[in-house]
Amino acid sequence: MNLDQLLRNNIKALKPYSSARDEFKGEADVYLDANENPFNAPYNRYPDPLQWAVKEKIAAIKSIAPDKIFLGNGSDEPIDIVFRAFCEPGVDNVISIDPSYGMYQVAADINNVEIRKVKLNEDFGLNAQKLLDAANIYTKAIFICSPNNPTANLLDRGEIVKLLTGFDGLVVVDEAYIDFSPESSLLPELDQYENLIILQTFSKAWGMAGIRLGMAFAQPEIIKVFNKIKYPYNINMLTQQKALELLEQTVEKEEWVKVIVEERDKMVRKLFKLSFVQVVYPSDANFILVKMHDARGIYEYLTEQKIIVRDRSKIALCDDCLRITIGSPKENKKLRKALKDLT
Ligand SMILES: *Cc1c(COP(=O)(O)O)cnc(C)c1O
Repeated sequence: MNLDQLLRNNIKALKPYSSARDEFKGEADVYLDANENPFNAPYNRYPDPLQWAVKEKIAAIKSIAPDKIFLGNGSDEPIDIVFRAFCEPGVDNVISIDPSYGMYQVAADINNVEIRKVKLNEDFGLNAQKLLDAANIYTKAIFICSPNNPTANLLDRGEIVKLLTGFDGLVVVDEAYIDFSPESSLLPELDQYENLIILQTFSKAWGMAGIRLGMAFAQPEIIKVFNKIKYPYNINMLTQQKALELLEQTVEKEEWVKVIVEERDKMVRKLFKLSFVQVVYPSDANFILVKMHDARGIYEYLTEQKIIVRDRSKIALCDDCLRITIGSPKENKKLRKALKDLT
């Protein structure tokens, strides 16, 4: 992979915004360099633009160097940055699997970049060769998601490796749900693939969707590009502080994941027994995809019962499918009762 060749020319030439905090690092007694208000501490000060304290903590938990971490306003930010940094609007393209997370399409559309969607196999498995065949000289990135949303399954690691070794652009592997899966993250193998970008998030297993914090892991050269084009203070002070606090709760996080996975497996067993349920697809995530007679009707019935699930029946390969997030034991029971009342 040649990073310089992948980059858009305007990004290669870009002189990034230099903030007061970029120009003076280190400790001082009096800060009169950023036009901040001297009152209302600590909120009067701009936050650390590169979030080093949070990155150090993540680095320790995940055994990875801090300069291989990018933090974004949710995973959506690094997804968008991939387009802005590497894809010339109206010229370049990316490839994604279909069905998958809707934000890849939205980010492509916003940036006026073609997205070539390649269908997964009928069993939602990944065929790397089909994706490689869809690439041309204008293909800058391949987006995959494992475990995949909305299909809930892990993609085959060997097929993912075929993409990493067979494609000379970037391969973005979205691991938003990896904590719920029996397989481990690709993160320990990051250094083996210079074109690999791994996305993770605090929104799912960590239970922090409200603070908007997403992670991208890649080689420092890629992270430097991301840092160059992000908004200078993309992660606000409150989010940084809360993340530092919540990152101490690794024990709670593991416990939440354990309960959710147990509840998921229980939900799968129970849903199988309902007469109108046709398929409960295997799940490696914190949600399940269920194919049923009259999915739309059942969706509307559940809404009347004040239980909201996601109707995915209009999505490729997901005819008559609802996507159901695993909630608390009490919430899950309520859902099961509502469904059972239909039989
Ligand atoms: C939920 C989800 C995310 C997380 O997005 P955030 O912006 O970090 O909240 C990322 N990727 C996929 C596939 C998801 O389903």
